[in-house]
Formats: sequence, C-alpha cells, structure tokens
Amino acid sequence: MNKSELISIVIPVFNEAGSLDELIRRCLDICHTRFSRFEIILVDDGSTDGSADMICNSAGQHPGEIIGVLLNRNYGQHAAIMAGFEKSTGDIVVTLDADLQNPPEEIGKLVEKIMQGFDVVGSVRKDRQDSIFRRLASASINRVVRSYTGVDMHDYGCMLRAYRRHIVDAMLSCHEHSTFIPVLANSFAGKTAEVEVGHEKRTEGDSKYSLWKLINLQFDLLTSMSTLPLRLLSVVGVLISATGIGFGLFLFVMRLIHGPGWAAQGVFTLFAALFIFIGFQFIGMGLLGEYIGRMYHDVRGRPRYFVCRVAGEIQDLKVVTASATKPADNENLLKKS
Ligand code: UDP
Ligand code: MG
Repeated sequence: MNKSELISIVIPVFNEAGSLDELIRRCLDICHTRFSRFEIILVDDGSTDGSADMICNSAGQHPGEIIGVLLNRNYGQHAAIMAGFEKSTGDIVVTLDADLQNPPEEIGKLVEKIMQGFDVVGSVRKDRQDSIFRRLASASINRVVRSYTGVDMHDYGCMLRAYRRHIVDAMLSCHEHSTFIPVLANSFAGKTAEVEVGHEKRTEGDSKYSLWKLINLQFDLLTSMSTLPLRLLSVVGVLISATGIGFGLFLFVMRLIHGPGWAAQGVFTLFAALFIFIGFQFIGMGLLGEYIGRMYHDVRGRPRYFVCRVAGEIQDLKVVTASATKPADNENLLKKS
C-alpha cells in the first residue's frame, strides 16, 4: 500500500444523529491505523435532528481530519456526495453511508484494491440486511444497469465504493442535476473491480428512502443512463404501422376472395388505415424524441472523454528524468501532470 496517498472519505448525512458519534469514532480508528494521510468529509444534507451541530463539533475537535460541509436543505444522497467530492482533495476517494450499514472497517479493503491499479472499486453486500422488496428491486435494477453500462458490477445500490481522483474530477465536470453516482463513475472508468463487504441492519432510525424517493431515484438512474425510452417511441410506431399495413393487406386479399360483403362493409379497412396513421404519429414523436435526446446530451455537457495522462510531452520527459533519482517524487509529479 502506498502510504503517502491522501485518502478522502465522503459521507452523506441526513438525520443520522443516533449513529453519528459511533460512525466518527470507528472511521477515525480505521483511518489512524491504516492511512498516514486522510480526511473525513461529512456532508450534512439539511438534517433537522442536530446532526449538523454534531458534525461541526467533531470538525472542531479533529481539525485537519474531519471536515463538515453543511447544505442549506435536503438535496438527496447523490447531490450530497457530489458536494463532498467537490470539497475532497484525496488521490483516492471513498464513499460510505452514515447509518453504519456499511461497516467503516471495510474501507481498507477497498483502498487496497484500488491501489492495485483500478479506477473504481465497488462492493457487494454479503448477507444483505434489507427487506425482500428492496433486495428484489435492487436485483432487477442491477441487471438493467449491467446490460446498459457493460460493466459487470453486481451491487449498484451499495454506496461503499472507492474512486481514483481522475474519476471524481470527471464526475465533477458533469453539471446535470439528477445523477446516480455509481453509473456516472462507471461511464468514465477503465478498470473496475468489486470486493465483498459485510452489511449490518440499520440500528438507529429508519431508511431515508420512502417509496416515492425510491421511485424518483429510479427515474434519475434511467434518465442518467440513456435516452432509450425516447427511441422506443419510434420503435412502437414502426410496429403499429407494420401491423396496420399487414392488416390492410390481409383485408384486401380476403375481400378479393370473399367479395365486398366481407369484413363488415369496410369498417375493418378503416381500422387498418387508423393503425397506419397512429403508427406514423408515434414515429413522428420518436423523431422529435431523437432531437430532444440529442439536446439533452448536449445540455448536460458531459465530457466526451477524459485524458488521465499524456506521454511524451516536454513536461512528461522532465518527470521521467526526475524518476531516475527520486522515485517517490516521480509519483506525485505524474499525478500533477
Ligand atoms: N441520505 C442523504 N440524503 C437523503 C437520503 C439519505 O444524505 O435525502 C444519506 C443517509 O443519511 C445515509 C445514506 O444517504 O447516510 C443512505 O441512506 P439510507 O441508509 O436511508 O438508504 P438505504 O440504506 O435505505 O438505501
Ligand atoms: Mg442504509
């Protein structure tokens, strides 16, 4: 493990006063034993139970180790994490929930893995301690996200994750409002890995995700991934039109065989024509959707790609020369370049 790297731990907090003291104590313990340089960033997401004051107090008691970021109201878990990312300066950034469902002691495992050369390290909760409804919903969502991103991760809902600095910077350069961090990170990640972590029951308070908040989160996930639903309009249109045309041909042939009295004096023909026109309307909406989708992509202004290093430039050559004498400094220079 490269002990000189700075580790940032970002934790969103929303009404978690009951578990905050223990969380801070356990995080400090693990950081003191495992890392020589670290910062714990606690982001208060508009709590009303005194969590913000507790965060401020601990930041005062542990200057340089705990940083409190207080948001003026509740913006949601992923927005709060983004606020923490913005404040973080670490080479490696770890995210964690504040409710102690993810044991902080597992942070070391993720950091070790990321130091093996991965951009993003996710985690899979073994013996997940959530309701069957949450587990089933997660399983189907994970499958959809896996097929969309092509990244073979199995637990997108677990926020105990670690990211290399350049991935965090790439995420920060995306200015869209609705984000789902694990998917956004994987869209920039080259090498990803997963580790198995423990999972505990929530002991203090309840889940901060009501059914409505969960539905909102799924929409964020869907729209942050793709504009496929817009394209589906065209596909539906083509299917309806094709059915209408097929139906029309069928009626025409049957009429030739059975004469004009067949098929309710042309009423069915009307249906066939209707199907064709409805199909055209859908295709029209789908085309509009295509333009809207393209505008949506452009408005979000996500970077098209992210260069993490350029080799062969004058600056880079200096780094290589420096490495001949001082290997430790070289690492830092490379990071800055
Ligand atoms: N959280 C937050 N803002 C919110 C909802 C949740 O910052 O609007 C935090 C919460 O304090 C916790 C983490 O996000 O640290 C995960 O929330 P929770 O444990 O309620 O989610 P669950 O485990 O039920 O998915
Ligand atoms: Mg939880």
